[in-house]
Amino acid sequence: MDKTLNKLIQLSHQLAENQYQLVILGEGNTSADCGDGTFWVKASGSQLATIDEEGFSRVNKEFVLGLIKRGQMTDQEVAAGLKDSLADKSHHKPSVETFLHAIFLSEGSAKWVGHTHPVSILSFLCSKVGAEPFLNHIFPDEIVVCGELPMVVPYVDPGFPLAKKMLDTLRSYQDKMGYSPKMVLMENHGLLALGQTPRDVFNISIMADKWARVMIGNYIMGGPNYLSKKYANRIENRPDEHFRRQKLAK
Ligand SMILES: [Zn+2]
Repeated sequence: MDKTLNKLIQLSHQLAENQYQLVILGEGNTSADCGDGTFWVKASGSQLATIDEEGFSRVNKEFVLGLIKRGQMTDQEVAAGLKDSLADKSHHKPSVETFLHAIFLSEGSAKWVGHTHPVSILSFLCSKVGAEPFLNHIFPDEIVVCGELPMVVPYVDPGFPLAKKMLDTLRSYQDKMGYSPKMVLMENHGLLALGQTPRDVFNISIMADKWARVMIGNYIMGGPNYLSKKYANRIENRPDEHFRRQKLAK
């Protein structure tokens, strides 16, 4: 089997392990860049917990990016476009969230992407506070693994409209920060973990989950006691934390 696909199947199974509560049933999807202008992405209707090579489709990245550039697309055009994006026409139709994967595997400079719907994170993202509590930090490891600032998108109809919004928001984030995010919080929807390795995607996903679970406890105890910007920035830039970050992602 293709080596990248093999690793992607393993990552998908890991993300779907019961103990983490990141996805159930058909929730979530994963992708990996093949380095030749194509990428593997979950096909429509597969389940991460039991997915095998049949559950993935190989698609042309430029073709998908070309679809996003269009002004508007009907549901029928999206379905037809996704089918036409297949690099191997024998594969199943890719997930409607293929657009998001193409964006982060190109302009977002990720090599691996994991999209999940974690119970803990959705406890915030589906509440009145939304993603706001994640814009400050509460402990060093979430900065080391998940980065200085998550990218946030409000709820937008999944598929083509969400892809448009995601691309605009990514470009604004890059203008402001000078680099790409490691995670995206999609309000009323879920998490995107953006990695250079499959391990990176897994680490970001479980650390973001821990971050959210700790914060739920913080809210019960009267609210989070945020680290000062000065300390958060220090963690982000300490040489030993850079080293730790690189080791963890291998
Ligand atoms: Zn989703």
